[in-house]
Amino acid sequence: MKSIMHNRRDGTCYLCMLLHEDYSRKQTQEHHVFYGTANRRLSEKYGLKVYLCQAHHTYAGSMEAVHRNHDIDVQLKEKAQKEFEQKYPGLCFKEIFGKNYVFF
Ligand SMILES: [Zn+2]
Ligand SMILES: [Zn+2]
Repeated sequence: MKSIMHNRRDGTCYLCMLLHEDYSRKQTQEHHVFYGTANRRLSEKYGLKVYLCQAHHTYAGSMEAVHRNHDIDVQLKEKAQKEFEQKYPGLCFKEIFGKNYVFF
């Protein structure tokens, strides 16, 4: 399933845009917003993936790498849940992913 959050062909980094309003093209890597064996499969199934530059993905020297920064990780998961609920209004996010990230 292709991403419902981000168009790969844009060549942008989702977090460069979100955090820095930087819309330039980057060398990007695919990131499954919910990772770990079971969740990764679900992310794939529902298109919950984004494209990230190395600094925003796993790079150890970056404070903003999603795999190293809990706040950014949660922020991305909240965005993903919102997109999920818009795209699949008949499905219950919490039932599928086991957790709720959107609080009103
Ligand atoms: Zn980036
Ligand atoms: Zn990743």
